Amino acid sequence: MPDNYFTDNNFSARLKTLEARIEAACAAAGRKRAEITLLPVSKTRAAEELRAVCACRLKRFGENYLAEAAGKQDQLRDLALEWHYIGPIQSNKTRALAERFDWVQSLDRPKIARRLGEQRLRTAGPLNVLIQVNIDREPQKSGCAPGEIQALAEAIRAQPALKLRGLMAIPAPDRGQAALDDSFARMRDHFEALRRMHSGSVDTLSMGMSADLEAAVANGTTMVRIGTALFGPRSG
Ligand SMILES: *Cc1c(COP(=O)(O)O)cnc(C)c1O
Repeated sequence: MPDNYFTDNNFSARLKTLEARIEAACAAAGRKRAEITLLPVSKTRAAEELRAVCACRLKRFGENYLAEAAGKQDQLRDLALEWHYIGPIQSNKTRALAERFDWVQSLDRPKIARRLGEQRLRTAGPLNVLIQVNIDREPQKSGCAPGEIQALAEAIRAQPALKLRGLMAIPAPDRGQAALDDSFARMRDHFEALRRMHSGSVDTLSMGMSADLEAAVANGTTMVRIGTALFGPRSG
């Protein structure tokens, strides 16, 4: 591996292509680029790759695995970064999530809301949370059923250390464009309903990845979570 592998690994070129896609999607949907936050998803990537992306002025990262994220967080202490947890949550890991992350996007049951709320340090400020919705009711996937959103929102609101910011979803893959659009459109409806009920804090609809960000932008996403389009293909 050459010395400059991480700093010279085409991040700026990939970011340029990605930004052009997001801007084209916004133009097609009649939306402003500023309405959409880009969250780089850095699972499986080395800390030095995150550092290189950070040099392109991207200051937030999404991680799926606690132990892996913790190692990178410790190595990147010198940078002011915003960390988003986007992976499945085991209840015995909530303390570390509450201590190490700024956002948890994958909250999907009341027990986790209680534990995160109780374990968040008072000095840290509120933990931003999204409710993950299993929008296509896939048996193995994390996320609450759409009918459970309101009750879970109440459980979050009961915890002063948590701040409910909105919803996150990963639609079922490989079903064609119409089914994908339908999933995103249903998420937008759930998001609008939640925002009507909790207008003070709810502002984030996290959906859209490398392969489907255009459909997500067309259907109202406010945060796209991008891995491969920014970092290149994952090797494993
Ligand atoms: C890996 C991952 C992404 C990014 O996926 P890409 O297809 O690489 O852009 C987004 N969200 C979640 C929850 C992920 O696990």
